[in-house]
Amino acid sequence: MQNVIVITGGSRGIGAATAILAAQQGYDVCVNYRHNRQSADEIVDRVKGAGCKAIAVQADVASEPDVVRLFEAVDANLGTITALVNNAGVLEPQMRVDDMDAARLNRVLATNITGCFLCAREAIRRMSTRHGGTGGAIVNVSSAAARLGSPGEYVDYAASKGAIDTMTIGLSREVAAEGIRVNAVRPGYIYTDIHASGGEPNRVDRIKDTVPMKRGGQAVEVANAILWLLSDQASYSTGTFIDLAGGK
Ligand code: NAP
Repeated sequence: MQNVIVITGGSRGIGAATAILAAQQGYDVCVNYRHNRQSADEIVDRVKGAGCKAIAVQADVASEPDVVRLFEAVDANLGTITALVNNAGVLEPQMRVDDMDAARLNRVLATNITGCFLCAREAIRRMSTRHGGTGGAIVNVSSAAARLGSPGEYVDYAASKGAIDTMTIGLSREVAAEGIRVNAVRPGYIYTDIHASGGEPNRVDRIKDTVPMKRGGQAVEVANAILWLLSDQASYSTGTFIDLAGGK
């Protein structure tokens, strides 16, 4: 059976590295993105260069109609999904909780939590033996922030990732007997553009000395763990976490 993977936020950073590694392992790939069509098209070209099918689909994972349309596009163009990477995530400018307003909180929680739930729902409706599917695997991209809390930077973001950890445990048990494994990765400080959204593009270099390994991580180091968790090598793992945080 051909492996078909949907990677939310697959156009940049960890998602893009995951898309390229997945193609190298023979997956057909759906690269979801929100705004940046050019980046998504570049990743699609690289996947096709590896000999796999690929599509780019614009969809805001926080929007229910968008998520439904995303998975319908996968059905129509790539076939039945076998793997989902819930990777799309956002953070906002660094600030204390006593300065945060409801609009900001809702933006962060809508993408990071609701988006994961909606995409998991659509994947389960296609993968679960309960719905006539043949199984599959989901990896949620959480964060070391779920353990560390991100004080003074973005406690809202950290809390959203704590919710993803809880969702990973609950969902993994809910669908374990239906042929679906659900796991998560918790990256630490990884060199991607996400830190610019927090107002500090060079954040990883500022704090890398607080990491026991004394360096930031690369997106491909996270992608390797994601692809392992999706693979048959991880066939008895569900509801588990891989920390990719240099020992922090
Ligand atoms: P990134 O470089 O900022 O890329 C984010 C990706 O998500 C882009 O493809 C973006 O698409 C997409 N995206 C954002 N909001 C979306 C939405 N509502 N709907 C659909 N797509 C959306 O981020 P990254 O650093 O690779 O992070 C990926 C994941 O890893 C996130 O969940 C993040 O929280 C987590 N993480 C990252 C780090 C780190 O240090 N980098 C550490 C721990 C966890 P557009 O470009 O089109 O907007």
